[in-house]
Amino acid sequence: MESKTPASETLPIRAVRCLRCTYVASPVQHFGCEQCGAYGDDLEEFVLSGDGTVLEIVNVYRHPDSSLTVPAVIGSIELIEGPVIRVRLTSPDLQPGSRVFAVDEAPDAALGLVFAPALQKAS
Ligand SMILES: [Zn+2]
Repeated sequence: MESKTPASETLPIRAVRCLRCTYVASPVQHFGCEQCGAYGDDLEEFVLSGDGTVLEIVNVYRHPDSSLTVPAVIGSIELIEGPVIRVRLTSPDLQPGSRVFAVDEAPDAALGLVFAPALQKAS
């Protein structure tokens, strides 16, 4: 089985947590909490676990942007801390509900972070 290095060890994904309502936003922004409007010292940066669950998957075979390497598997991932992000997936065999984790691969300029099936996680 292919072994992947968890990105949480080498490529931290940062987020910001609202200390008033606990809402979590990623990527980091300091304009204000998207849920309650709190700002300033009420927003605290932290590093996400990189663990999440697949919500939906799209297989891309052709794309007008030649910078995008195809075929590609793109997914919406709900991180365990709450934020939903769009990422590139390493496997076309994932289903909605599959557990995945961020892996240490260079983010794709067009597709962002890379996530692999949780079974590949090195222990
Ligand atoms: Zn808030």
